[in-house]
Amino acid sequence: MLALRADRVYRGPGDCGPGVLVVEDGVLADVRTDGDDLPPDVTDLGDVTVLPGLIDCHVHLAFDSSADVVTPLLDDDDDALVRRMADNARTALTVGVTTVRDLGDRRFVSLVLRDALRADPPSGPELLVSGPPLTRTRGHCWFLGGEADTAEQLRAAVRDRAARGCDVVKIMVTGGALTPGFALHESQYGVEHLTAVVAEAHAVGLPVAAHAHGPAGIRDSVAAGVDSVEHCSWFTADGVDVDWEVARQMANAGIVLGATLGQRPGAAPLPAVAHRLETYFANVVELIGLGATVACGTDGGVSPGKPHDVLPRGIVALTDRGVPFDEALATATTTAAAACGVAERKGRLERGYDADLLVVRGDPRRDPAALLEVDSVYRAGVGAALR
Ligand SMILES: [Zn+2]
Repeated sequence: MLALRADRVYRGPGDCGPGVLVVEDGVLADVRTDGDDLPPDVTDLGDVTVLPGLIDCHVHLAFDSSADVVTPLLDDDDDALVRRMADNARTALTVGVTTVRDLGDRRFVSLVLRDALRADPPSGPELLVSGPPLTRTRGHCWFLGGEADTAEQLRAAVRDRAARGCDVVKIMVTGGALTPGFALHESQYGVEHLTAVVAEAHAVGLPVAAHAHGPAGIRDSVAAGVDSVEHCSWFTADGVDVDWEVARQMANAGIVLGATLGQRPGAAPLPAVAHRLETYFANVVELIGLGATVACGTDGGVSPGKPHDVLPRGIVALTDRGVPFDEALATATTTAAAACGVAERKGRLERGYDADLLVVRGDPRRDPAALLEVDSVYRAGVGAALR
């Protein structure tokens, strides 16, 4: 048993004060208010804030955050790739990211790492994985190995992922910044393809995460009933054009908007998105205000500005733009947990939840930048090495 006391334990919006966390078998056995009879062997962490460990809903552990992420990915053998992914996963853990959802590996190697980390929790975050994203022949990220063109091929690919034990199905509905061919705003699939994928995935209990930058791809994803629209950029050929009617449908249906946030300070964004990033950001903030279900993902790994430790910066950036701290934090805790299908055990400090903890110096409710001042991180109740 482990018992931790802190001046501030974040139990939710408006509920943060002195408290004690009791951990048994990797799970929170009790979350008490300070002053009740303290366990005799309690460790007092003092003037810190204990938060739920953060959840990054969209990463690519196989990508190395270099200017050319494709070449090393293709050159490495599976063992080398898994080692690199493990290293990237540890990097995320050091800033308090205790769960990551990997939405695109090469040929299912993330399953190997997922199972290894489950057996040894303090060595990295818990992983939820999609395997290679479904994409058109020579379409966005085709080199990851997930090419499927027809509805029948897509259905077979979904069944294959279910049989292998993937946690989620990822599909590239539109083009993307990493691959020539389909432009960001161009659709790779029609609504009939997406409907087939959703039906097949839901039949085997898997959610569908749809990568979509263009308005048509977003509209078709929502019409098909996907579980999340990743990026959801509303990018046209050279601008940004939100379809507010589709955005409302998304919000009403509870379809998650997977906002791509978090950037290394001073890093240049990818040229394809740089000139419209501020507009994207403003739209995300407005959609949060309208009640959209927004979960945060960094797309960690895809470019030099996106190393695997920028999720807390994404939360802070939301608060910089006026989103209240509790709501910004929820995009990487409660809402993120729901988006990833783990809401019953992640994202909150409550009895029965996994003892995944981010401990920071100071009080991020007063100064959100305190989120970056990591004191310690616990994964399943075990302190992680912060290197
Ligand atoms: Zn991505």
